[in-house]
Amino acid sequence: MEKSLCLVSACLLGVECRYDATSRPLPRDVLEGLKARYSLVPLCPEQMGGLPTPRDPVQFYGGDGEAFWRGEARLLTEDGRDFSRALEKGAGEVLKLVEMLDIKLAILKDKSPSCGVSRVYREGELVRGVGVVTAVLLERGVRVLSGDEL
Ligand code: SF4
Repeated sequence: MEKSLCLVSACLLGVECRYDATSRPLPRDVLEGLKARYSLVPLCPEQMGGLPTPRDPVQFYGGDGEAFWRGEARLLTEDGRDFSRALEKGAGEVLKLVEMLDIKLAILKDKSPSCGVSRVYREGELVRGVGVVTAVLLERGVRVLSGDEL
């Protein structure tokens, strides 16, 4: 039987695409289990938004990913540069592929401003909330799990 597609944050598969050019690979047994059940589609929204690697980390000001799409939050570097448009573009590119390929499940890296599933950094603190990609996927009915939950 054909396996269904599963979007995965590329850094969870060992791609060194995080802001500091590192990865956070899933444990090998978890990865093998996922590969047995799904065809994995690795994406890095921040690279797809045009940001370099390594890059300055950003965090939320004014809310989380849901607030971002309502126009109430921004994503700034520590020295105040606004990277909101790049992260918005990256989320849009991910959504384009999710809709084209009819992807129904995503496993994303928690605590990221793009991929965060249950926690994100906001104004210097780790708080409950979702990243900009997670917010838009949930809104489209995609099931989103944190790599930490597996
Ligand atoms: S944007 Fe997502 S996939 Fe890219 S490095 Fe950050 S957590 Fe990983």
